[in-house]
Amino acid sequence: MHCPFCGANDTKVIDSRLVADGHQVRRRRQCLACNERYTTFETAELVMPRVIKTNGNRDSFNEDKLRGGIQRALEKRPVSADDIERAINTIKSRLRATGEREVPSDMIGNLVMEALKELDKVAYIRFASVYRSFEDIREFGEEIAKLEK
Ligand SMILES: [Zn+2]
Repeated sequence: MHCPFCGANDTKVIDSRLVADGHQVRRRRQCLACNERYTTFETAELVMPRVIKTNGNRDSFNEDKLRGGIQRALEKRPVSADDIERAINTIKSRLRATGEREVPSDMIGNLVMEALKELDKVAYIRFASVYRSFEDIREFGEEIAKLEK
């Protein structure tokens, strides 16, 4: 690819490694013209099912939206970017594994809840309280009690 700094088309790969559990290749590249270094990430492009929203509208799967929701729940929590990418990849694999062309948005919400439950309990509660919009404080307490078991 062209150098993002000077546009030259001769760059070399100086380091290459697998990240996100082997779902991504991270490459450090250096431009042969201006010597600037930059990083590229390579992932396989696989077809994701479309999303059926609660109002019945169909939408294409939006990975940025998924990542945004997870990151918001994990704000200021001790979870690494790698762990977040791993969780996103797991969710995507599971959606593809359904073999469906369309999946309800609820299914994605539930997969996010499961992933957060493993990653960070506080984030899980944050996400669940918004996503499930707990009816009352008792229901919220029950959800927390379940976590403590
Ligand atoms: Zn350059």
